[in-house]
Amino acid sequence: MGIIDKALEANRDYARKYDSALGKPPAPKIVVVTCMDPRLSDLPGILGLPQADLDVIRTGGPAVTEDVLGELVVSNRVLGTTEILLLNHTGCGFTTFTDGELNAKLSDSTGDASPAPMRFFSYKDPEENTREQIKMVRSHPWISKDIPVRGFIFEVDTGRLWEVHALEDERIA
Ligand SMILES: [Zn+2]
Repeated sequence: MGIIDKALEANRDYARKYDSALGKPPAPKIVVVTCMDPRLSDLPGILGLPQADLDVIRTGGPAVTEDVLGELVVSNRVLGTTEILLLNHTGCGFTTFTDGELNAKLSDSTGDASPAPMRFFSYKDPEENTREQIKMVRSHPWISKDIPVRGFIFEVDTGRLWEVHALEDERIA
């Protein structure tokens, strides 16, 4: 049996015990942008916040794309979240290749180059990535200026978070 088939079977039990009050419209308080990496999945544990308070946007990296900016605007302006947390991490798979390398590799191994060049949003340095994200989000005219936009790196070896400040001099100060 495939993983999805097993999951469907498990869902029957889940639905039997499901609390229908959970189906009420959500009222998240904070929005987190983080990587698709499974080590970032336990956000209630990592952040000590209830699942219901968290709006979560996940992309590889994470990459703050136009789509992600749109989701942040909705989270802020429509759903009413009041803080934005950009959560990068050490050991990210998206630092292990460049877009050019992966495009070449997949074109080669599949014998079909027609999707290339795909954007995979690979990057090299999580700290620099975080700093760019803070700038992009902070400068978006539809994201309220009253809202804190803070960036962090999750250390996969220790479980610790450390903050990245938008500017180099801020970090020194
Ligand atoms: Zn990652």
